[in-house]
Amino acid sequence: MKDVSRRSLVLGAGAAAGGLMLPALPAIAAPQTGLPKDINGNDAITITRGIASRKWVAMTFDDGPHPKNTPQLLDILKARRIRATFYVIGWRVKAYPDIIRRMVAEGHEIGNHTYKHPNLAGLGQQSVLRELDATNEIIYRTTGKMPVTMRPPYGALYQSQRSFVATNRRMPTILWSVDPADWRRPGVSVVANRIVAQAHPGAIVLAHDIHWPTIAAMPPALDALIKQGYGFTTVSRILGLKDWSKLKFTPRTS
Ligand SMILES: [Zn+2]
Repeated sequence: MKDVSRRSLVLGAGAAAGGLMLPALPAIAAPQTGLPKDINGNDAITITRGIASRKWVAMTFDDGPHPKNTPQLLDILKARRIRATFYVIGWRVKAYPDIIRRMVAEGHEIGNHTYKHPNLAGLGQQSVLRELDATNEIIYRTTGKMPVTMRPPYGALYQSQRSFVATNRRMPTILWSVDPADWRRPGVSVVANRIVAQAHPGAIVLAHDIHWPTIAAMPPALDALIKQGYGFTTVSRILGLKDWSKLKFTPRTS
């Protein structure tokens, strides 16, 4: 992959998704705390939840990979045959490439969570693209696969920016419908209980694999959801898109 030009990676990002052929999704009643205030519900570029016709959820983990916690989480998911989505930070991908490769090998989806985790709402368009492009590039060079969705740090991205990103990189902004606020470290059982209490068919659950209590909350939360009849899938699949790992991204070599 050495001779792949940056430019071809940049322009190809998201193209594998086939150009945002997202199904119509039900509007949400009210944005939850922490979501941007300028969203009214799912549209083609701003996603808070997936298809609700099946009893399934998409677990998403942001800010990793973490050298100790993430492999532990991967063990927990593997034991339950659960596929999740990881919104990874570019510099951490570079630092821990083996963990990213393990994620892909075990069927998880990788999404773009920027390179240095800045608040994108405070950045200009070119800076936003630089953050996304550098992250797509390191993920591609590490795994041979290109992410098809992004999640902005802190959920912070204005409508105009989400639209700009969708137009220029064909990446929808993935937010969430279930937020246990695990980053505040409210305690293992509180995190687990919030996830179970807020879960719904089509839920996109926000969590962070850099926090140990979040990892510890996963076995009870996942087992409770399994007991309630929930299945688990990736963000792409819960949106009705193709499995991201089966999409072919062929960069130009010039
Ligand atoms: Zn984050």
